[in-house]
Amino acid sequence: MPEPETWTLLRLVRWTTGYFQEHDIESARSEAEILLAHCLGMRRIDLYLNHDKPLTEAELANFKALIKRRIARVPLAYITGSREFWSLPLAVGPSVLIPRPETECLVEAVLPVLDDPDGQPKRVLDLGTGSGAITIALAHEHPEHCYVAMDRYPSALKIARQNARTHRVDHCIQWFCGDFYASLADRGDGFDLIVSNPPYICSGDMAALQPEIRLHEPVSALDGGEDGLLYLRQIIASSHDYLKGGGLLALEMGCDQADAVRSIANDVGCYVSVRVIKDYSGLDRIAVMEKISE
Ligand code: GLN
Repeated sequence: MPEPETWTLLRLVRWTTGYFQEHDIESARSEAEILLAHCLGMRRIDLYLNHDKPLTEAELANFKALIKRRIARVPLAYITGSREFWSLPLAVGPSVLIPRPETECLVEAVLPVLDDPDGQPKRVLDLGTGSGAITIALAHEHPEHCYVAMDRYPSALKIARQNARTHRVDHCIQWFCGDFYASLADRGDGFDLIVSNPPYICSGDMAALQPEIRLHEPVSALDGGEDGLLYLRQIIASSHDYLKGGGLLALEMGCDQADAVRSIANDVGCYVSVRVIKDYSGLDRIAVMEKISE
């Protein structure tokens, strides 16, 4: 960092934007703003309302340390400790996947199932809840239902619970630590809805991921085995045992996995239909399967 007369907020935003661009960081300006606002405990707009305010030596030193982490490709959300999902700020850290906008399409796809003002409370299961993104978004919209959220990692559940408390939905969520269905053996009645955004990237494609993902996000949340379908297969094959007749299974998948998912569901033979929904980029992203009515 050069030594100018004074580092004002605006000069620093401008300098950081250029520095990020030199290091091929996308959305350099907005990342520079978010990082500086985070460092100073301000809102982004405050940077402009106080554009000629000078930084203290200590503030500058803290900011330099954050810039270094970002240049080392630590995702912005891990540095700020937060990412918005379904307009809810969620705490995130390296033990959970950073929630993606595509996953909001899954939330949107299943909301009509939960919109039943006169019905009984529904039972919803989220497999591999991570930061809790899907369950917390659903429970935020429909706190009248009963949610069960599972994850293999206690460190992820800790973050998910913290997020549920922040958004005041912890009371309608039960948390389980374990492998997909292994710890659900005696969960009683079936579920009306099962949702999951499982790891679905082919192991061989992991090395080609951008460094933010490859070096910093949990491999266990991304790697779906040799053909990327390892967990999708397990979930589709086991879920019908846990779904009520007519219940729905909604899964996120890779944009080239729709045909494979359809054929896995057909082979299982317990689903009447498979509906594929596209994400905001127009790519196949969500599969919704309906269990045969009993
Ligand atoms: N359910 C979480 C999410 O969609 C975590 C998914 C995962 O770790 N694969 O963000």
